[in-house]
Amino acid sequence: MSKYRVKPGQKINLNDWDPDDKSEWPEGKKEAKEVFIEINKELESLQELLYAENKHKILIVLQAMDTGGKDGVIRAVFDGVNPAGVRVASFKVPTEQELSHDFLWRIHKQAPGKGEMVIFNRSHYEDVLVVRVHNLVPQKVWEKRFEHINNFEKLLADEGTTIIKFFLHISKDEQKERLQERLDIPEKQWKFSSGDLKERLLWEDYSRAFEDVLYKTSTSHAPWYIIPANRNWYRNWLISAILVDELKSLKMKYPEPEEDLSKIKIV
Ligand code: AMP
Ligand code: MG
Repeated sequence: MSKYRVKPGQKINLNDWDPDDKSEWPEGKKEAKEVFIEINKELESLQELLYAENKHKILIVLQAMDTGGKDGVIRAVFDGVNPAGVRVASFKVPTEQELSHDFLWRIHKQAPGKGEMVIFNRSHYEDVLVVRVHNLVPQKVWEKRFEHINNFEKLLADEGTTIIKFFLHISKDEQKERLQERLDIPEKQWKFSSGDLKERLLWEDYSRAFEDVLYKTSTSHAPWYIIPANRNWYRNWLISAILVDELKSLKMKYPEPEEDLSKIKIV
């Protein structure tokens, strides 16, 4: 799965990354659902362990073009985890108060504490994506933010946070289909925003901005993964598999009981 990880300093041309790729799918496995149930269970028990051990902090960043599947990942991948230890932080257009501070102010407050797993649905990366594409601040301001972001993430990592960043990579054609579904399917209409159509016209600008993000901010302590996301099942499985790997590598342990339990008798 490391082939999806962007190496520090690796230049990215998104045209070279196939959003339909499914080459890491376990050999011989046919039933996506079955495989997914298994890996979901594994993720659940690792999250339980994370919570019980109360030592590590996990930050998962989700970024994508509109309709890229951020909400779908949150629903499917974190389906069975214990809500007491998992939190989703969604970053919308900043409020006036948020805008009166530096761009990381609202972000830092949402970072995970010990034993906690936090999923960023959009993130500080919006401040070098939408902000850049729409010139919401001058270039001399946003271009410094890459360094600020790297320093911020280094701080979190040095203080015990594992950071995993996923870029959900869909094609422009796939986005067209997904937007069309939002028009056609009554249960999806609430998601339709005509603003998304305006953003679609800026697809190339967003692509360049994402390429810069991936190139400048994938570090050893906070790597980006480019997830082929045209197929939901592959996207969900791959993200789960990467998370399971990362959590296993922490070698977490259940805490020792406070006293010798063998001597305790419940009457
Ligand atoms: P959604 O995630 O679909 O609910 O949309 C949230 C909207 O907030 C998107 O259009 C984002 O581009 C926008 N947004 C998030 N963060 C920022 C930011 N820092 N500056 C400007 N717009 C933002
Ligand atoms: Mg939206």
